[in-house]
Amino acid sequence: MKASYAANPQQSLGRTYLERSSNSRSEFQRDRDRIIHSTAFRRLEYKTQVFVNHEGDLYRTRLTHSIEVSQIARSVARILQLDEDLTEAIALAHDLGHTPFGHAGQDALNTCMQSFGGFEHNLQSLRVVDHLEKKYADFDGLNLSFETREGILKHCSLKNAKQLGDVGLRFIKKQQPSLEAQLTNIADQIAYNHHDIDDGLRSGLISVEQLCEIELFSIQYQKVKQKYPKLEITRQIHEIIRRMIGSQIKDLVKTSQKNIANAGVKTIEEVRTSEALICSSEEIIKQNQQLKNFLRQNLYYHHKVYRMTRKAHQIIEALFDTFLEDNRLLPPEHQSYANTALQKEGKTGQARIIADYIAGMTDRYAINEHHKLFGYGEVF
Ligand code: MG
Repeated sequence: MKASYAANPQQSLGRTYLERSSNSRSEFQRDRDRIIHSTAFRRLEYKTQVFVNHEGDLYRTRLTHSIEVSQIARSVARILQLDEDLTEAIALAHDLGHTPFGHAGQDALNTCMQSFGGFEHNLQSLRVVDHLEKKYADFDGLNLSFETREGILKHCSLKNAKQLGDVGLRFIKKQQPSLEAQLTNIADQIAYNHHDIDDGLRSGLISVEQLCEIELFSIQYQKVKQKYPKLEITRQIHEIIRRMIGSQIKDLVKTSQKNIANAGVKTIEEVRTSEALICSSEEIIKQNQQLKNFLRQNLYYHHKVYRMTRKAHQIIEALFDTFLEDNRLLPPEHQSYANTALQKEGKTGQARIIADYIAGMTDRYAINEHHKLFGYGEVF
């Protein structure tokens, strides 16, 4: 059962290249399946979330993060009677454009690209599905439906929006995307806030005592402690985190249902011209902010994470500068893209091809590439 304001695959605004519809799968199911079979999706397994991929086998990667986002988003989509397939497609694709080394990699690449239009991972996710995947005989990219592409592009500057055609329009008109897209955006935040607590505790960089200063954590901590006073610490942490996620979802559903009812939206068109409807309550937003600040100060800026961040910057910058200086150091395929782009669009075009190549690297590939180019004793 789906609500009238849910995205409807039969009324999709379509794909860039016309394709015959499938007898067995909806347009959004096809989008999801194309994403799962993409090269960029497989690479997510070896890309950092917070911890660099080889630091430990139990930490989140971009892949497990995307699957967690999809789980949270789909369960809420079902309650709100939205389109689960579209929600899943957006969730699985939302981080396809992420660089190696997490945010450190994105910041470094953005710095490198300053004179060439900058680099933004969210925009890059769209670029991956629109252009960079080369799998189909008839087109570049995955030729996804408008609704999935709209959901992938969470934010965008006005300058970029003007160059993006259909998916850029809503930023110019100041409109909202589908409820499925709004939901996936919030599910992303719920997922990373909570799994970063879990990974942070596992790594020993943050402690339960520190986290007890955070309202969202301490409420559940007290409840678990009271109910299971002798529970071992690892189970205790899991109990706390799953309850935290549960209470966030409950609040999100309740607040969003209220917003949808108050706005009286009946169709996806009305959703687009309304204000954002999938939201957490004011109180939860405030508490989440406290949690985010805590994670920033104590985990993302922890000196051990910072040291890795610094190294990531150096690797990305060195690769970018060297490739820009000498195209011939790129693998042949990228070399030919870079040469064509250089002829057509000058240095800016060439820089974009290099950014695409670096953004597509996994953590390990980037480290190896750096070693091959700058390490002694290895030529190839
Ligand atoms: Mg994400």
